[in-house]
Amino acid sequence: MVNGYKPVSLQEAIEIRAAEKVIPYAGGTDLMVQNKKDAVYLFLNDIEELKQITDDGEYIRIGAAVTFTQALDSDLVPPLMKEAVSKIAAPAIRNAGTFGGNIGNGSDKADSVLAGFALDGRVRLVSAQGERVIPFDDFCIRRGVTDIKDDELIAEILLPKEKCALPYYYQKVGGRNALAISRVALAGVYDVKDGAVRYLSLTVIGEGKFTRYRDVEAELIGKSVAEIKANADEYAKLFTDRMTFTRGRVSAEYRRTVVGNLIRDYLMTL
Ligand SMILES: Cc1cc2nc3c(=O)[nH]c(=O)nc-3n(C[C@H](O)[C@H](O)[C@H](O)COP(=O)(O)OP(=O)(O)OC[C@H]3O[C@@H](n4cnc5c(N)ncnc54)[C@H](O)[C@@H]3O)c2cc1C
Repeated sequence: MVNGYKPVSLQEAIEIRAAEKVIPYAGGTDLMVQNKKDAVYLFLNDIEELKQITDDGEYIRIGAAVTFTQALDSDLVPPLMKEAVSKIAAPAIRNAGTFGGNIGNGSDKADSVLAGFALDGRVRLVSAQGERVIPFDDFCIRRGVTDIKDDELIAEILLPKEKCALPYYYQKVGGRNALAISRVALAGVYDVKDGAVRYLSLTVIGEGKFTRYRDVEAELIGKSVAEIKANADEYAKLFTDRMTFTRGRVSAEYRRTVVGNLIRDYLMTL
């Protein structure tokens, strides 16, 4: 028998989270395969406040219990995020899997987290003590480790509208066309005016953790697109020289080569 609580409001949920040792449970697509013995779950999918997608003028706010299918049906969710989540698993998983679960499990291959990093996203965490809003960069510490406290819940992810409006690049390389976890992926948004780069973000899957190399990104700001394209290999190498790739189903060398190719392809589309 499954033990757990089924709160219907966020307030009720954070009170239970403060009082008991519970595991937040959203869509369960990660948790159900872990089959934890004697776990007490805090089921989040009856909480309407966590299932909203809203626009507050500055941010697109996606509730932690919003499913990927719900996001794909929304006019508010930016195209980069939609493209990233459209590649997650298959429809049955997208119907149940949520944004809170994707960032909450701390996976280094989480597709919505890749897009969130590229868009300068933030995470809103709530507890009985109050709330805090932190950048994705600070929340995702390393594979399997996030900056969430035992009494906190992820309430929303916030995507800055000015970044959501920019053109984007996205590519996912998996082992097959469907139900494929990313072996390598790249997401970025950019702003080009009068032939020069005004802004560029770039994040990859393949390093074992999510990172933004903001100092390398900054080296491209102000450069002409023609110059970047003429020297795309060198600019791509500025990023890959800083990256450390992990081995798994594929070698670290494979990941380095494919990421280098994707960065070059990204720069050539500016
Ligand atoms: C067959 C299969 C294929 C998959 N393919 C992909 C893929 O291609 N890309 C990809 O990114 N993922 C993939 N996944 C992983 C999974 O579907 C996603 O990570 C999904 O977003 C998890 O969401 P969930 O709601 O099901 O999370 P759950 O399983 O409910 O929870 C996952 C973790 O997050 C925590 N959590 C959930 N909500 C909150 C909250 N509000 N506050 C605090 N902690 C919370 C839970 O405690 C748990 O630790 C796949 C999984 C399966 C089984």
